[in-house]
Amino acid sequence: MEKYIMALDQGTTSSRCIIYDRKGRIKSLAQKEFRQIYPKGGWVEHDAMEIWSSQLSVAQEAMAKINATHENIVSIGITNQRETAIVWDKDTGIPVYNAIVWQCRRTAKYCDELKALGLTDKIREKTGLLPDAYFSATKLRWILENVNGTRKKAEEGKLLFGTVETWLIWKLTGGKAHVTDYSNASRTMMFNINTMKWDNELLDIFEIPAGMLPEPVKSSMVFGKTSSNIFGSEIPIAGAAGDQQAALFGQKCFRAGESKMTYGTGGFMLMNTGKKPVFSKNGLITTVAWGIGDTVDYALEGSVFVAGAAIQWLRDQVGLFDDSAASEKMALSVSDSAGCYFVPAFVGLGAPYWDPYARGTILGITRGTDKNHIVRAALESMAFQTRDLADAMASDIESTITDLKADGGASTNDFLMQFQADILDRDVIRPACIETTSLGAAYLAGLSTGYWEDEKDIAGNCSADKCFKPSIGSKERSFRMKKWHQAVKCAMNWEAAGD
Ligand code: ADP
Repeated sequence: MEKYIMALDQGTTSSRCIIYDRKGRIKSLAQKEFRQIYPKGGWVEHDAMEIWSSQLSVAQEAMAKINATHENIVSIGITNQRETAIVWDKDTGIPVYNAIVWQCRRTAKYCDELKALGLTDKIREKTGLLPDAYFSATKLRWILENVNGTRKKAEEGKLLFGTVETWLIWKLTGGKAHVTDYSNASRTMMFNINTMKWDNELLDIFEIPAGMLPEPVKSSMVFGKTSSNIFGSEIPIAGAAGDQQAALFGQKCFRAGESKMTYGTGGFMLMNTGKKPVFSKNGLITTVAWGIGDTVDYALEGSVFVAGAAIQWLRDQVGLFDDSAASEKMALSVSDSAGCYFVPAFVGLGAPYWDPYARGTILGITRGTDKNHIVRAALESMAFQTRDLADAMASDIESTITDLKADGGASTNDFLMQFQADILDRDVIRPACIETTSLGAAYLAGLSTGYWEDEKDIAGNCSADKCFKPSIGSKERSFRMKKWHQAVKCAMNWEAAGD
């Protein structure tokens, strides 16, 4: 009988289930979108019950598509949208409020207060993060402050908190396991990444009762088994990691210095820094990559707010093409960007600039500039921003990066991949399967349940589709970077400058 691993990929806009075989090949896939709830400007919520029901239905659908039963599934791995906060009643399993999504800015003011209190360094040293509304702690606090009766119930031990993997594991096990994997815990701003425990001092500051928090556990181990009524019999849930960390694992970046870039709507670069946390001097975040066996791997993380979204903007708002893939042909129809630079700072700039007042700009336009040059400049901006992150990481680890593994929707663009290799002066490797997030979750589950023996056993899986090698000289490379930095300078401080 064929045996598989099931990966549950609970993302921001959809729940997916992918079933993998031993070679890391996709045997079945099901996907379901769910509602985005925007109660006010800057607020984003999901219905936690819908997260659960959509995830459950795609799991059952993916199994049905290949006539699989519980006997075919060795174990389940979970990967999820990170930082999103859910609080529910321990007895009824009913959420007390909608899930507050990572994108939600409702606690920005409180985070400003934390900064004004001088807590930035303390938070960074303990959690690897910067005080920001993005992370879970202040979202959880908001629920306790604003949803009637919740603080009292939480103090009486009647409420539970979880990020999305915690919620799914709790539901799948029928309330038997209340756990969070280290990688997800490290995104809450309550978890001490030096001790791998909830940090009591921070819990006091945020006024969060410790009793409602899940137990932090390794990323690759059996957390519990699914209730037998879900899939006909029990299946072990044996791995979990936040989406970006799972992608790092799926890309097999197991050693210090190995990194991956995901070119999606935004861009996320993570570099494995080995067994000790590296605290950034260049505006990056320190995070737990995963905990396996007796060790923990750490990563540096940098995010670009607008990556593929620049292409989306040219497609949807400007109407230069109908399909994102057409951007490749257009970029290749000209020999260069004709001195054109596109800084897609639509929502400010993230690492390493951190300028919320920057805005998008296109520079160097002449009478000869046409739409192809602009499209090319937009694609190039993804590579320039990635090079900026790579430089920040290299400076933090006082070494250079090795090669770069690429994934995400825009990584299918060969022009972008080649230009990335050129501008980074490193090989850029795109795997055959760019579903690295769910594959990472499958590996974590399969490794703890003997489906795969060890890392060597998966080494041959999902090998490189293509390796892009640097092909320009250093003079050209530094000239392009110099012009890019000049363009970034022009985009910075725009909002504040005019008024
Ligand atoms: P996410 O998971 O962040 O929603 P995906 O990984 O699916 O995003 O990537 C989608 C993004 O990639 C979109 O912003 C889209 O414009 C961009 N994209 C998709 N295909 C291409 C392509 N061939 N060239 C450039 N950008 C692309």
